[in-house]
Amino acid sequence: MKLQQHEMEELREKLEVEKVNLEEELSSHGRVLNDAGDWEGASIGFEGEESDPNDVADQIEELVTNVPLVEELEARHVDVAEAVEKMDEGVYGLCEECSEPIPLARLMANPAARTCIEHAEEEELV
Ligand SMILES: [Zn+2]
Repeated sequence: MKLQQHEMEELREKLEVEKVNLEEELSSHGRVLNDAGDWEGASIGFEGEESDPNDVADQIEELVTNVPLVEELEARHVDVAEAVEKMDEGVYGLCEECSEPIPLARLMANPAARTCIEHAEEEELV
């Protein structure tokens, strides 16, 4: 089953919207490391005094939250960006394991899905 043009457009729009949202989230919780689009968690909102132990504690707390959050956002951002690239290359919607078409319902739920349901990672299905 091949995706219809309007389905492809709907999925592309979902991906574009998610990509922009992820970039906003990333820039509010981290900073760009390089041109390759790598990010790291940072305490962007920090305006306290480094000499004040309470401010430093707040900053550390923010980092402890932001570092894993940014890692997660970054991984998702890579998935979304690659899905858009696949659309441009005309290979979108195929399982990376078996090259079978990914069911439309799955793509609608997760337009950045890399695999068919059979080959989905277990953690993704929890
Ligand atoms: Zn598969």
